Amino acid sequence: MNRRLDDPELAAATADLPDTRVLPDVTVLKVGGQSLMDRGRAAVFPVVDALVDLKRTHRLLIGTGGGTRARHVYSLAAELGMPAGVLSAVGSAVAGQNAEMLGYLMARHGVPVVGPSGFGVIALHLAETGAAIFPGMPPYDLWQRLPEEGVIPPYRTDAGCYLVAETYGCARMIFVKDEDGLYTANPKTHPDATFIPRVTVDELEALDLPDVIVERPLLDLLRAARHVREVQVVNGLAPELIRRAAEGEHVGTIITAD
Ligand code: ADP
Ligand code: MG
Repeated sequence: MNRRLDDPELAAATADLPDTRVLPDVTVLKVGGQSLMDRGRAAVFPVVDALVDLKRTHRLLIGTGGGTRARHVYSLAAELGMPAGVLSAVGSAVAGQNAEMLGYLMARHGVPVVGPSGFGVIALHLAETGAAIFPGMPPYDLWQRLPEEGVIPPYRTDAGCYLVAETYGCARMIFVKDEDGLYTANPKTHPDATFIPRVTVDELEALDLPDVIVERPLLDLLRAARHVREVQVVNGLAPELIRRAAEGEHVGTIITAD
């Protein structure tokens, strides 16, 4: 009780204790903001159908990204000289809008939207309807960790969705975006880029790619993870891949902690 909380021995002692997985059978999915929601009906409706179908057999927590509107507000706020914590707060509103719209699309299937303050009842929603939607942005708001450079919040919706999966000790974390997975460069601007089906965090950092398909701080979170030691990125424009990934098939890029 009287040890310093940053005492390494104390940290080691807490690491020795067995972990409680809070929601071990839940699959967490992130529905991309720019990559899916911003494409509108043509991309979103088939993903909704796939999620409704998946909910029949799996318990789902569905997080949302921000996308183009978040990028707009970041650029405006940065130009106005706002700090990272303010960008974080205004950016999270956009993930909230996407969650709200996805929520209305899934409402008739009984799927609710829960904000950060609603997580206390998430177990009830999962038991009752098998799924819940949440805005993917972590609620750091003003307390967002400072970026090394500039003011763009480093922990955005990829990190926010992943942290739900890791904290609750969930079965899987699946990022549903608009590419087959990770390539050696952004395939939208580098059509000759090669696909990387599986990679560890260390290998990925060693590759030193100019751009990656997930937020970079996610890689550090993965490295420190106790439960969710791998994530899969799949192409939501081929929505049948969502179920296959949830069933553990390798259908996109798997990024592993080790
Ligand atoms: P989200 O919609 O989940 O926020 P993003 O748009 O932030 O997703 O990220 C997905 C995008 O990342 C893809 O549409 C792709 O164009 C881009 N991207 C950048 N670098 C890569 C890479 N190395 N491999 C694959 N996609 C990449
Ligand atoms: Mg993104």
